[in-house]
Amino acid sequence: PEIISKIASGQIASSPMNVLKELIENAIDAKATEILIRIKDHFNFKVTDNGIGIPYKELPTAVERFTTSKISTIRDLSQINTYGFRGEALYAISQVSHLTIKSRFQEESIGGKLEVKGGKILSHSPISFSRGTSVLVSSLYFNVPVRKKCFDLREKRNLKKIVKTFALCRPEITFKLDNEVFFASSLEERIRQIFGKEITFEKELSKRFTIFYLTEKEEGRRKISFIFVNKRPVSLPEVEKVLSELNIKNYILFINVTPEEVDVNVTPTKDKVILRDFSILEEMKNLLAKKVFLPTF
Ligand code: ADP
Ligand code: MG
Repeated sequence: PEIISKIASGQIASSPMNVLKELIENAIDAKATEILIRIKDHFNFKVTDNGIGIPYKELPTAVERFTTSKISTIRDLSQINTYGFRGEALYAISQVSHLTIKSRFQEESIGGKLEVKGGKILSHSPISFSRGTSVLVSSLYFNVPVRKKCFDLREKRNLKKIVKTFALCRPEITFKLDNEVFFASSLEERIRQIFGKEITFEKELSKRFTIFYLTEKEEGRRKISFIFVNKRPVSLPEVEKVLSELNIKNYILFINVTPEEVDVNVTPTKDKVILRDFSILEEMKNLLAKKVFLPTF
């Protein structure tokens, strides 16, 4: 059984970056307005939020497989407006790390602490804690040496990138990442907070999408390419292809469609989505082809 659960945890806890992604998504789903991320190294990090918190009694349930507070009926699945809905992330992470969750539910006066290591609950006790939740992942992959070997300290860069990715699509939330702070702001301001004050971009919008793109190549800048569908960071090869054909190399694209128009339940990591209606590609081509693009080589 231990082996089976380790395999099941494979995809979600496949990388430190994906683990951190799940924790940030949980904080946003909990309606946090401030999220604090501390990264000691790629196997030891912590996410603290000021969201609704987890009721004391439900702490052990949160790390059980397929338990989610976010969806209760099949109808809900086509109406998803939270990042999480599968109830697998904390379970998967708890299988391959030493996980410490501290939380206080908004309607309770006393908080709780739950410690899990390699899937075993070590302790569950009351503590005093400010409203919200803190999830500490330590010794990630301590019991999966093969996976551990796949990552070195360079992974820390990916951890920072995933924080910035969420900061980009949720400018209304304050993110604190070690010594960097992205205060709640407008989207335009958030883009500057993340990529630098001097960044210049054009903006085009239509009913279903908003795109920011750089018109000039700035020396030494890393490629900027982000696609969000309903505020979910995704890869969408079809769209990437269209943008590349239009010679748009650096872009931040927000696609907004009704939840029915997009299937997010494609992979456990939720980074692939299927758009039900690809007419949006034509819309994009029509709108952007009219613009003149400087070659960016
Ligand atoms: P999912 O997000 O798919 O529901 P998770 O395994 O990520 O599944 O989380 C399990 C449950 O734990 C969530 O449904 C939620 O009730 C609770 N939870 C996890 N993280 C937080 C958090 N930061 N704040 C409040 N509740 C949380
Ligand atoms: Mg989740």
